[in-house]
Amino acid sequence: MAQEMNAAPVCAVVTGGARGIGAAVCEALAARGLNVAVNHSHAASREAAERVAESLRERFGVAAQAIQADVSDFEQASSLVERAAAALGRVHVLVNNAGITRDALFLRMKEADFDRVLDVNLKGAFNCCKAAVPAMCKARAGRIVNMSSISGLHGNVGQVNYAASKAGIVGLTKSLAREVAPRGITVNAVAPGFIKTDMTNAVPEKIREQVLGNIPERRFGEPAEVASLVAFLASDEAAYITGQAIEIDGGLAL
Ligand code: NAD
Repeated sequence: MAQEMNAAPVCAVVTGGARGIGAAVCEALAARGLNVAVNHSHAASREAAERVAESLRERFGVAAQAIQADVSDFEQASSLVERAAAALGRVHVLVNNAGITRDALFLRMKEADFDRVLDVNLKGAFNCCKAAVPAMCKARAGRIVNMSSISGLHGNVGQVNYAASKAGIVGLTKSLAREVAPRGITVNAVAPGFIKTDMTNAVPEKIREQVLGNIPERRFGEPAEVASLVAFLASDEAAYITGQAIEIDGGLAL
């Protein structure tokens, strides 16, 4: 939805937008003319988020702002959406991209690692939806895109916590999609395979090679490829798609 002359401004909130897939999503949405709130979680990531916002302003002429909030905290998620709306216009698009891993085999997985991954990946998306959906209902328009993962759809060794959070995202997506469809809001999930980011750079080389061997396209995905799909789902063209979890993985989970 490009901004129209004289129309009230609208924005996209992208959680975890300072790097990786989130930063690519910020870019793809700004390229389509949306103002963007680039969320980051800690003071340490402020500089990176501000650099992303500055580059969006310079390259695409949109309004963009870095906003700090830990999405796992209900109050901070509310304040993120409020601040974005006050500074950048009605929140028309919410991309719940923020996510973490705390991988371990089940027998070694700590309770705290299960809780933290669920709190950020799943509760974080719930918190941001709670904050953004009322105004979307009022406007009778909105787009929500939640970041799932093929781990959530197919499972993965060492990722009981992460896969549970990403499967939870699919359930949240489908249920919320049913509830808000009559209000002109679509809710979809994107389930990437192995995308080249800091998150996957941390995976040991041996496992990366194994994964690569299982990808029919014989390459890892680019953040920009995931971002294009998100931008499409966030667009007017995708108005009749809701409640879907779309895999983008070079055929890995076929
Ligand atoms: P990344 O680690 O590069 O980026 C994640 C971002 O989320 C970071 O900027 C981080 O600071 C932010 N974040 C973490 N906790 C947060 C919190 N509590 N509040 C706000 N922000 C927080 O990872 P990425 O690879 O770009 O992943 C982005 C999303 O895509 C994640 O949800 C991830 O689970 C999902 N995903 C990634 C891959 C992949 O192969 N890279 C595959 C499937 C799904």
